[in-house]
Amino acid sequence: MADCVFCKIVSGEIKTEFLFKDDKVACFKDIKPVTPAHFLVVPVRHIPTPSQVTDQDLEVIGRMFQAAAKVAEDLGVSKTGYRMVANVGPDAGQEVPHIHIHVLGGRKFGWPPG
Ligand code: AMP
Ligand code: ZN
Repeated sequence: MADCVFCKIVSGEIKTEFLFKDDKVACFKDIKPVTPAHFLVVPVRHIPTPSQVTDQDLEVIGRMFQAAAKVAEDLGVSKTGYRMVANVGPDAGQEVPHIHIHVLGGRKFGWPPG
């Protein structure tokens, strides 16, 4: 997708230090972190929203969770725990229409979220 910031990051058009990258998934730090550890997990393929996940994407969704866990371990937040968030649509404040998981760690969180 030409105008998608995450597609540009994945393709290298926007320079980013990857915490993890393979042919299906990429992880990189959020540009505006809201916790001491805050990174994003995105599929390489441009998938705008969960409703557009197809059967061909089922493997990549699992790989996103595996990559999130690996990077959380690398950043040292596995033992203390972390939160995974996927914002979908306007009420959740989704800004980038390329599905992504926020992985938030390094502090405690309340429940339910605000
Ligand atoms: P969301 O509101 O769930 O769509 O989250 C989009 C996230 O992408 C926000 O937390 C932004 O800070 C983050 N973001 C936007 N542009 C970049 C970028 N160039 N590099 C890293 N993170 C970005
Ligand atoms: Zn995209």
